Amino acid sequence: MTLDFGTHSSASGGVDKALERAVGVGATSCQIFAKNERQWRAKPLDPLVVERFHQERERTAIRQMVVHDSYLINLASPKEEIHEKSMVAFADELERCDTLRIQNFVTHPGAHTGSGIEEGIRKFAESLNRIHEQLPHVTAVTCLETTAGQGTTLGRTFEEIAAIIDQVEAKERMGVCLDTCHIFAAGYDVRTPDGYLTVMNQFDKVIGIDKLRVLHLNDSKMPFASNKDRHEQIGVGEIGIEAFRCIVNDIRLAGLPAILETEKDPQGEYDRKNLALLRGLVAV
Ligand SMILES: [Zn+2]
Ligand SMILES: [Zn+2]
Repeated sequence: MTLDFGTHSSASGGVDKALERAVGVGATSCQIFAKNERQWRAKPLDPLVVERFHQERERTAIRQMVVHDSYLINLASPKEEIHEKSMVAFADELERCDTLRIQNFVTHPGAHTGSGIEEGIRKFAESLNRIHEQLPHVTAVTCLETTAGQGTTLGRTFEEIAAIIDQVEAKERMGVCLDTCHIFAAGYDVRTPDGYLTVMNQFDKVIGIDKLRVLHLNDSKMPFASNKDRHEQIGVGEIGIEAFRCIVNDIRLAGLPAILETEKDPQGEYDRKNLALLRGLVAV
């Protein structure tokens, strides 16, 4: 048993369209945006689209799904207007997960934009506590994504992720998404089997491997510890193939949705190639 390999799939034309696209490139899990990721407001999900989405889920072999949040959301923002908009948008995303019966909601832990790491973490966690209170029925787990550490973004260390979860009351509603490109850019060296083991043991010690629910598999265009987030096709970037061999054979991660967020071509060839490459690394 290995990972449940998948890809970020376009939901253009309706979220129901994303599943067939994912199947078309050979994915068995997939990630979508549940609304336009670059706009604050979005129309509610059309009930007919939702119905077709559930039918597609039955028809295709795609079982594990992930929603990625909009890039605009910043629950750690000290600016009241942005924070308020973020609260509304975040709650809306969680409701969409509920409607679509998607259990994993991946979110970036935001940016403190000058208020400081500690204050940013406090604000982020407090916001989640408020949202959890507002939405007691939602069962989707919020998965904090590890970040590359660009600018004032939070989540560049395992300690920052752990500190957020620590301050959230409903811990069962919290998980983690580990992005290989981001942790590498943030200074976690997974290029060798020894390095990989050290980093994952650190993750387990600081956060707990049982919190890990989603993987983002991306190589990196940028060098180690650059704090820059630029995804590269698997095996040809600065991380290299060995790290991915370690991940797909790590028994502790077996069964997790492992999502490609690498550049795509219109025919889906890049995704197909990356998925075949990853599956080929699994030791038999
Ligand atoms: Zn990612
Ligand atoms: Zn990224």
